[in-house]
Amino acid sequence: MKIGLEVHVALPTKSKLFCSCSSGAEEPNTAICPTCLGFPGSRPMLNEEALKRSVTIAKAVHCKVNEKTHFIRKVYFYPDLPKSYQITQLEGAIGHCGYVDIERKRIRIRRVQIEEDPARIIHADDYSLLDFNRSGVALNEIVTEPDIESEAELREFMSELRSILFYAGVDIDKEMKVDLNISVGAEKVEIKNITGIKNLVDAERFEEKRQEELIASNKRVATETRSYSEETMSTVPSREKETDEEYGFIYEPDLAVYPTNGIIPYATVIASELAKQYSGKRKETIKTIKELVMFDREALKLIQYGAGQSNIETVINAIEVLKRRGKIRMPEKGFGKMLDLLDKGIVLDDDAIAALNDGEDVEAEKHGVSTEEIDREILNVLSQRPDLVKEYKTNKKVFNSIVGIVIKKYKVSPKHVAERLALVLGE
Ligand SMILES: [Zn+2]
Repeated sequence: MKIGLEVHVALPTKSKLFCSCSSGAEEPNTAICPTCLGFPGSRPMLNEEALKRSVTIAKAVHCKVNEKTHFIRKVYFYPDLPKSYQITQLEGAIGHCGYVDIERKRIRIRRVQIEEDPARIIHADDYSLLDFNRSGVALNEIVTEPDIESEAELREFMSELRSILFYAGVDIDKEMKVDLNISVGAEKVEIKNITGIKNLVDAERFEEKRQEELIASNKRVATETRSYSEETMSTVPSREKETDEEYGFIYEPDLAVYPTNGIIPYATVIASELAKQYSGKRKETIKTIKELVMFDREALKLIQYGAGQSNIETVINAIEVLKRRGKIRMPEKGFGKMLDLLDKGIVLDDDAIAALNDGEDVEAEKHGVSTEEIDREILNVLSQRPDLVKEYKTNKKVFNSIVGIVIKKYKVSPKHVAERLALVLGE
């Protein structure tokens, strides 16, 4: 069996792809203008934010990002598209030739592109209604090669994609439409516009069984477009607008060719924003965080969460403590508590961090070590070891030995102890 997907997600931009209308209006036909209604003479203007987000997505799925990107018109007539063409991309797409790794294999990504959403059609008994709020909303499409070979792989891929898209601020559980191409034998069947991961998996399961049964009873699987019904959990043949061969593709003359170089991935933008709030001089730390969030989505999530809970200095401290322990992982609730304790000047020991990880509450007195206690222990060590103090005057390397003695008693960050020791020694 071979499965290929075309995954469409709405990009989280405030305005639409080619006009300044809001992307999030609820009352039907309130966020509309001549451009998204397709009036003659109206001109599209590319939303820069959509371009940036799409480049981030393309990079996150390891695509080669085209240096320059351009748009085409996909010409077809349908009521949801009054200008008779959809502005989309093809060979000049944002990125191509990428991949997403799942458990045991690599799923190749053919293309990442942006396009506009058509209007919403609401079918009633003997009439249909059109809502143009959706017309022109920025969509990002990810097209895979037919590398998925089982339901398990489909689930794995979608779960991986969900976390990758988090990079670009896209929540696929909110709005996602997938075209599923599936062939058990030689014939390819396309199931259009499936919403959500659950429906996608259900549609795949139904279609796999349907095709298997036809093949087993020596019947032909028709090459066709079908649609999935959530109520019956089955697929039925659908009347397609046009076939690919019938679409007219022409170059979009109203839009420019856009450079993509110089676009910084979104995760790095978040880190830079955090750095702006940070008044300290620890450039190295900020650099580390930038590098880290580019490759560690969970860490980025935690940092973003933390930034809303506490000041950035504390968040960076907490991240450093977790990093020193190996992985930057902690449930949000535990992380919030950790920030709270750090804000109070409590330095947490390993047991305390393990407890926060397990979702347990931490009593500051039991696990935490306050800065005063660290200072007291430093003074204690210095008074008991005058030899070290004397040696330190000529050999600065002794500094680390003193830190070592202190952290033998308190299993806390050596960096923190070093900072306190430097203060005590007047460095
Ligand atoms: Zn508009």
